[in-house]
Amino acid sequence: MIDTDVDLQPLNTLAIAAKANYFARVNSLEQLLEALEFSRRRQLPVLPLGGGSNIVLTGDFPGLVIHLQLQGVSMVDTGEDTLVTAAAGENWHQLVMRTVEQGIGGLENLALIPGCIGAAPIQNIGAYGVELRDIFWDLTAVHIASGEQQKFSASDCQFEYRNSVFKGSTLDQYVITQVRMRLPRRWVPRVDYPALQHYFSEHRLDAAEQGPDEIARAVIAIRSSKLPDPAEIPNAGSFFKNPLVSESCYFALKQRYPELVAFPAGERWKLAAGWLIERAGWRGRRINNVGVHHRQALVLVNPGRGPGAEVTRLAAEIATDIYQKFGVELEPEPRYYP
Ligand code: FAD
Ligand code: NAP
Repeated sequence: MIDTDVDLQPLNTLAIAAKANYFARVNSLEQLLEALEFSRRRQLPVLPLGGGSNIVLTGDFPGLVIHLQLQGVSMVDTGEDTLVTAAAGENWHQLVMRTVEQGIGGLENLALIPGCIGAAPIQNIGAYGVELRDIFWDLTAVHIASGEQQKFSASDCQFEYRNSVFKGSTLDQYVITQVRMRLPRRWVPRVDYPALQHYFSEHRLDAAEQGPDEIARAVIAIRSSKLPDPAEIPNAGSFFKNPLVSESCYFALKQRYPELVAFPAGERWKLAAGWLIERAGWRGRRINNVGVHHRQALVLVNPGRGPGAEVTRLAAEIATDIYQKFGVELEPEPRYYP
């Protein structure tokens, strides 16, 4: 059941060549517990892997990669909402489409996000003004050190903008096996992002009148028009988080760059990292095997299937340049391994 020296290139969307010293494909809770027992006996670090769309492999992984293939979805109408339960290995986008095709709203803005259910809580996935935490109910996870199962409520998960407890105090301690979401019957469309407004007005449709299915289709059309498909051009989506800066920093930048793209975020301001990178002249640039996508400067691409070091070098160069030009620090969104 445990393989050795397994090629991870087909299992990460940046298509980086790297190996897992040990590798287990798990289809059941029993197999997961066995794999974790193996990692404990050998004192191996564990990397739970879903679709590989938010990782950067900087070398071979010197431990056990557990590829989660747990399957199963159930939807129960409670009268007030639909309780959706999905196993970690289910594909996120397919679940979104399953709900919207049944007229159930709540997940439509999150259509076409690659990856699996089990990874969605890790960074509290979000798009077009909706985040997982808006509809999250709870999750089940296995504690890697003890093999015990534990439930996490929404408050246990400490969701923040592209962040959760699983990237903080419990980093590398749990494997998520199941996620539950509550999709309310009293659904309200979230269509305030300019790209959605623009799409519906171009199609002469009233954005506020659209159902979940139409909104999902709009999101799919917009994303397909500007984001590279990892199957064609390897990438990990947005490479940097949008930086949150103080009001004084925002106003100073806005004075220098009136066209700066930024949005209020509580007491701070969220700057569009893609705008900073584009303004600094990086859009479309290519260095050896890697580069910056020509339509979306926030996406780093790896068309030459270069090693992880080329990707991280480019990311570091961009971050340094943005700091020198704007005084703003960029933080990578995908996790670097090992
Ligand atoms: P992986 O890359 O396999 O893993 C990511 C991290 O989660 C790793 O640290 C891994 O160890 C951990 N992990 C995975 N599964 C589990 C588990 N079951 N238990 C514990 N830890 C686990 N993200 C957004 O938020 N919004 C977007 O709109 C968006 N668009 C994207 C578009 C493109 C083209 C691409 C390539 C990526 C995009 N992403 C987006 C990033 C990515 O798709 C999400 O973060 C997604 O949730 C990652 O899922 P995955 O299964 O591929 O995770
Ligand atoms: P966009 O629509 O061109 O917008 C640029 C940035 O402005 C986005 O990053 C978004 O922040 C912010 N923004 C736009 N309208 C906003 C509003 N009304 N209120 C608050 N913030 C607003 O962005 P895009 O790159 O094409 O992506 C579209 C959506 O998909 C975004 O939500 C983005 O996060 C998501 N996406 C994420 C990834 C990833 O890998 N994480 C990849 C592709 C797309 P937010 O990013 O905070 O929404």
